[in-house]
Amino acid sequence: MIIVRYGEIAVKGGKRREFERKLAGNIEKALKRRGIEGRAEVIKGRILVDAPDNASEIIAKVPGVVSVSPAKVMPYEEVPKYLKEALKGLTPRSFKVETQRLDKTFLKTSVEVNKEIGAFVVKEFGWKVDLENPELTIGIEIINGKAYVFFEKIRGVGGLPVGTQGKVVVLLSGGIDSPVAAFLMLKRGAEVIAVHFDQGKNARKVVEKVVEILNDYSPEPIELIVENHFEILKPYVIALNKLNRREWTCVVCKVAMLRRAAEIAKENGALGIVTGDSLGQVASQTLTNLYFETMSVDFPVHRPLLGFDKEEIVSIARKIKTYDAFLEYPYCDCPFRPERVVTQGKLEEFEKIRAELKKEGVI
Ligand code: ATP
Ligand code: MG
Repeated sequence: MIIVRYGEIAVKGGKRREFERKLAGNIEKALKRRGIEGRAEVIKGRILVDAPDNASEIIAKVPGVVSVSPAKVMPYEEVPKYLKEALKGLTPRSFKVETQRLDKTFLKTSVEVNKEIGAFVVKEFGWKVDLENPELTIGIEIINGKAYVFFEKIRGVGGLPVGTQGKVVVLLSGGIDSPVAAFLMLKRGAEVIAVHFDQGKNARKVVEKVVEILNDYSPEPIELIVENHFEILKPYVIALNKLNRREWTCVVCKVAMLRRAAEIAKENGALGIVTGDSLGQVASQTLTNLYFETMSVDFPVHRPLLGFDKEEIVSIARKIKTYDAFLEYPYCDCPFRPERVVTQGKLEEFEKIRAELKKEGVI
């Protein structure tokens, strides 16, 4: 039996039941996709999953899950006998017993259980008790009159169950940042549709791999929509060339992507566009440019990494493994990038460009 703990959703008041059901359903889906049949049952404050122990790692990646423990279930009286066997041969420097009584009808308190089982272990094995920093923690949760005994707590990704917050379109570039932005949205419970503008280069392979990796955090496989970058950008580039304003290419390129993404979002019932922009990270991601880009699309654009440092982003990318996909293919630069990229453009100039784009029927 696997004990699943969830935090945030427990405090969500009226929404709680819906959240719990969603989380249990998402856990079952995640297991099923990997050929594991497991039933997830919502009980007060926990989800119990009847699945083999190796399902724990899969469950830990389901957004909404705070921690996971593979446990053995038994009547409370049998705990000493079980521990005598289970702990045989171990030689921890110290230990403690940590009990939680979810079932308040159980006659002993958690403190009483800690003392009773702790005393048994000391007598049986002679180990030292350390409540602060024990090498081994014997976890006991009392659920429906039974004792669930476990020795590890695998950390989950936390957040909210996917499917409780609606849908977003995430622009995946093949770089390090946008996969992290996608992960953060999944973690906060949003369903994700991935959109990539293909330049016929390695980036597409990275994105395909990234989607595969991100699927670990999504109950349904993520849909990847691939658009032809050249086709989308062409009319914009023609208009810019007419004005002899090639340094605006990067800003205008993002405008083109966002506008196409907005169409896709509307077609798919998504309520926002998400990018991996981080303020000032590269010359093109200035507040001025983000202003122009956002003002050119009639749709909400979210940038969950705006306040993150590169190291913070890389560290998440490593943890969730999307960094591996990036490393697998060499980086390729955009063929349209001009020698000089505008960073602090003037509003009047941008308005001129917009007017030209409108005149040409591009926007
Ligand atoms: P990333 O690491 O995600 O590539 P970046 O720092 O390289 O980000 P840019 O290349 O300036 O940033 O792009 C900013 C954002 O625009 C990206 O995070 C991504 O969301 C989106 N984007 C850029 N290029 C593409 C593309 N070819 N297809 C889809 N989205 C893109
Ligand atoms: Mg990039």
